[in-house]
Amino acid sequence: MYLIDYHIHSNNSFDSKETVSAVCEAAIEKGINEICFTEHFSVKEGIKSYGFLNLKKYSDEIKECKEIFKDKLTIRAGIEICEPHENEEELKLILENIPFDFILGSVHNFDYNIGLATYMSSHSKEESYSRYFEEVNKVCTSPYIDIVAHLDLMKRYAFNTHGNYDFNEYREKIEEVLKNIINAGKGIEVNTSTLRGMVNETMPSIDILKMYYDLGGEIITVGSDAHKAEDVGADIRESIEVLKNIGFKNIYRFKNRQAIPVEI
Ligand SMILES: [Zn+2]
Ligand SMILES: [Zn+2]
Repeated sequence: MYLIDYHIHSNNSFDSKETVSAVCEAAIEKGINEICFTEHFSVKEGIKSYGFLNLKKYSDEIKECKEIFKDKLTIRAGIEICEPHENEEELKLILENIPFDFILGSVHNFDYNIGLATYMSSHSKEESYSRYFEEVNKVCTSPYIDIVAHLDLMKRYAFNTHGNYDFNEYREKIEEVLKNIINAGKGIEVNTSTLRGMVNETMPSIDILKMYYDLGGEIITVGSDAHKAEDVGADIRESIEVLKNIGFKNIYRFKNRQAIPVEI
């Protein structure tokens, strides 16, 4: 099985201290064939990721590691953009000039800079989840993304106080999001980071993965969302098995923002 991990942060992200080379070494050790770095990136002034990513440092490190590990590991360079629908003009100008392989689109904030945890702490369970899926629906057709990251992320923040959500209560909202993703030629990911904590299921849940498959969705990646080398590749094999059991024939990798199927 060709193993990929398409959601990884290094110290090019504000919330990781791991070096690019340590991530590569960990991936090789764990038998991963291909990784993609997805560093936090934002053009929204005032939020944590704004102005952090040093593109010269990042591309130099990628280039160097591609050379060092060329016989053992395929390395791609990507970013994770939050709320790309809010700054389309600025993003267009920046992204035109940088040849990223892959771009994840995320909802990490509401109303420009209110973090999900902050919002959730002063809103009901219903308000928090409804609002979250409405915001994802705005992000999912952005031309500046390839894959919608961690599609039901709100549960990571809401789990302790509000609990997990009931898929059937949000079925219509979720279906709308998935149809829009498919029609826009975008995809979703299986993010395994919530298997390493209290929530104990992937993002999105198996219900959403099945719905995506039933609606005809094909483009899907798998990623650990590792911020430390030890988490690189976590639960990737198991997630591919889950996708296989649902009926998916391929997962996808990307080069120059083109989706390439990998048979599973
Ligand atoms: Zn994220
Ligand atoms: Zn991430």
